[in-house]
Amino acid sequence: MVLDKEKVVRVRDTKFLDDVIEIGEKIFPEIDKVRTCIQCGTCVGGCPSGRRTAWRIKTLFQKAMIGLKEEVLDTDDLWCCTTCYTCQERCPRGISTTDTVRVIRNVAFREGYAKKNHLFVCSLLFKFGHAVPINEPVKELRKKLGLSELPPTVHSYPEGLKEVNAICEKTGFKEIWEKQWKKAQEAQK
Ligand code: SF4
Ligand code: SF4
Repeated sequence: MVLDKEKVVRVRDTKFLDDVIEIGEKIFPEIDKVRTCIQCGTCVGGCPSGRRTAWRIKTLFQKAMIGLKEEVLDTDDLWCCTTCYTCQERCPRGISTTDTVRVIRNVAFREGYAKKNHLFVCSLLFKFGHAVPINEPVKELRKKLGLSELPPTVHSYPEGLKEVNAICEKTGFKEIWEKQWKKAQEAQK
């Protein structure tokens, strides 16, 4: 059998985990603990998403540690975590597992690995101030529960939409989104 070199040669970026930690430290300083992962698998054992998908959080950490940047960022698996925090509560090393995944997702977004559906959801945020805008069935349900039809968010205070967009612009989020959105639109043509 002839081996396909493209498939067997893995490109390593030995600084990848350092970069992730540098970014994550601004959000939570203990992200560095991910380096102490012993691959025990406790996290995977209780993962509800892992029961139904190929998602294995410990594998993600292992790949990140050995610098397999592309494999970490360019995969659907990264987005299969439901952020339920079960693994974070159980990790014997006290690693903030879920929060680390969130940081890696941020890195993936910044580096242009957002999925088409994510980009669409972002467009809803810019337009409605909500990633999941309210719809008629939800309005009805809220009324049945004795709540106001609209939640006390941008839905009730449309003037707040300007502020939502200002935050998205000031943080550079919108700019990153725009580039990828444009690319995704062009790819569709
Ligand atoms: S439970 Fe913690 S130490 Fe064990 S594999 Fe998962 S992240 Fe690593
Ligand atoms: S936070 Fe994510 S990785 Fe951890 S148990 Fe929940 S779904 Fe699995």
